Amino acid sequence: MRIVISGAGIGGLTAALALIRKGFEVTICERTEAFAPIGAGIQIGPNASRVLLALGLEQALASVVCEATGKEVRLWNTGETWPLFDLGADCRERFSAPYWTVHRGDLHQVLVDAVEALSPGALQLGHAAKDVSQSSAGAILHTSSGNVVGDVVIAADGVHSSLRSALFQSPKARFTGLMAWRGLAPMEALPDALRHPVGANWVGPGAHIITYPVRDGTRLNFVGVVENDNWTSESWSESGTHEECAADFMGWHPHVQQIIHALETPFRWALVEREPLQTWSQGRVAMLGDACHATLPFLAQGAGMAIEDGWILADCLAESPLHPETALQRYASLRQPRTAAVIAGSSANTGRFHNPDLAHPERARAYIQAQWEPDKVRQRYDWLFDYDALSATQGPKTAQPQTNG
Ligand SMILES: Cc1cc2nc3c(=O)[nH]c(=O)nc-3n(C[C@H](O)[C@H](O)[C@H](O)COP(=O)(O)OP(=O)(O)OC[C@H]3O[C@@H](n4cnc5c(N)ncnc54)[C@H](O)[C@@H]3O)c2cc1C
Repeated sequence: MRIVISGAGIGGLTAALALIRKGFEVTICERTEAFAPIGAGIQIGPNASRVLLALGLEQALASVVCEATGKEVRLWNTGETWPLFDLGADCRERFSAPYWTVHRGDLHQVLVDAVEALSPGALQLGHAAKDVSQSSAGAILHTSSGNVVGDVVIAADGVHSSLRSALFQSPKARFTGLMAWRGLAPMEALPDALRHPVGANWVGPGAHIITYPVRDGTRLNFVGVVENDNWTSESWSESGTHEECAADFMGWHPHVQQIIHALETPFRWALVEREPLQTWSQGRVAMLGDACHATLPFLAQGAGMAIEDGWILADCLAESPLHPETALQRYASLRQPRTAAVIAGSSANTGRFHNPDLAHPERARAYIQAQWEPDKVRQRYDWLFDYDALSATQGPKTAQPQTNG
């Protein structure tokens, strides 16, 4: 059976690897002519790392991922710190898989290398998908460089998916009024107090910041989200200045200012909310990753959901290779409740991270202690990390949130 995948991002490459390992013939058509290490850090919770481990990538990832020892919440102006959860040994023990932080470009390169090693020539660059057509016997991906014929076509072409527009009505997109600054700061440029392997969620009125180590601990990844109606470009590569970024966090703790001034390049990116697509498959064509369930980044699960999709899609096709249409419907029915819950949980975190109470010294402490109380944190995160994509096709175990976010 030949599977054609449009889009060699995190989800498309994971699906390709899982499919090739199950004996499918795979062609991946990617729009880009040459990959560049654009982007910054992403987080890979144990729900996604267990898939990457099952794909045999542990050794290749070892030199690029960071395994932070913990995550903490910090108050924007005083820097007061509360533990959020343990990430190192405790995470491995509770969820049988690590919590990794990694530069997207590094993870992407590991996936590209693994696909090329297993199936040389499977990855075709400079093939921008335009449309898809199908019959009862097969499906054809129409690209800028010609047609590619397969038994099944998978649309993994990201948040601005061309195939989604060709097949379905695009979901409603709503600009959230939030903008994210992103960038990397060399660890050696930071004060000692910031050079430890932990992630931090700084929370404040109308803004929050996430930091964590990447690139084998040599860089600190910074994402600073602010309420800002003036920046609406949803791009990974538009930069701003250090002064503009620092101005958005005026009055925040000196550690925040030190990180901002150490950033190599501050990039900015408008945050857009989309409803998940209601229908993910049409005959022999199915959607995967951001193309069908883009999420706000406030549960750090965008890449994780695409990775889970890739594994489960391969499992479903391997179960019913003679009935690909049924396999694709089953894949969608397994994945839709999970990804919808992640989207809802991420949206719910916006209000939690930016609560106005955080502006008032007395109310801020009480608010943080109530919201990040250990039982509540477990309710908000354990269902995410506990989900086992590796066994999702085998039984009814579908970890669901106990609260909406
Ligand atoms: C360059 C880049 C940088 C990113 N940086 C970050 C970051 O710093 N932090 C973060 O949280 N998330 C980042 N993301 C998004 C993150 O990778 C995704 O949210 C997540 O991994 C879901 O993966 P996906 O496979 O669905 O989409 P993506 O990983 O976005 O992959 C989609 C792929 O499809 C390709 N594509 C698009 N249109 C077409 C077409 N018409 N035909 C063929 N191929 C097409 C794209 O070039 C890309 O390779 C970035 C995405 C990209 C493309």
